[in-house]
Amino acid sequence: MYRFADWSLTESNFNKGLERLIKISSHEIGHMFRISHCLNANCVINGTNGLGETDTHFAHACSLCQQKLNSGIRYNNRKRMTDLKHFEKQHLHSEWSRVQKDLNIIK
Ligand SMILES: [Zn+2]
Ligand SMILES: [Zn+2]
Repeated sequence: MYRFADWSLTESNFNKGLERLIKISSHEIGHMFRISHCLNANCVINGTNGLGETDTHFAHACSLCQQKLNSGIRYNNRKRMTDLKHFEKQHLHSEWSRVQKDLNIIK
């Protein structure tokens, strides 16, 4: 977590480091389940060449990568997305907003 902060971890840059941690962890966990890099530029499974590029990505897998993950390990996608309400509690509003859009689509 310290490495994802710019220079030193403070209360004011904590969320930026947390977002980076979520993005990098989600990306690497995707590889653990044999998902290859995605061509969708906004997908968290898209490759990145550094933190600057990581910052431009969403902490969100595209629908194709979510389908790949769900076909390999069956999980309740609605429950997973609902559990991501912690994004809001952590003030990761843009990520929570994307999750809410997905939840509205699968209703
Ligand atoms: Zn990768
Ligand atoms: Zn993808």
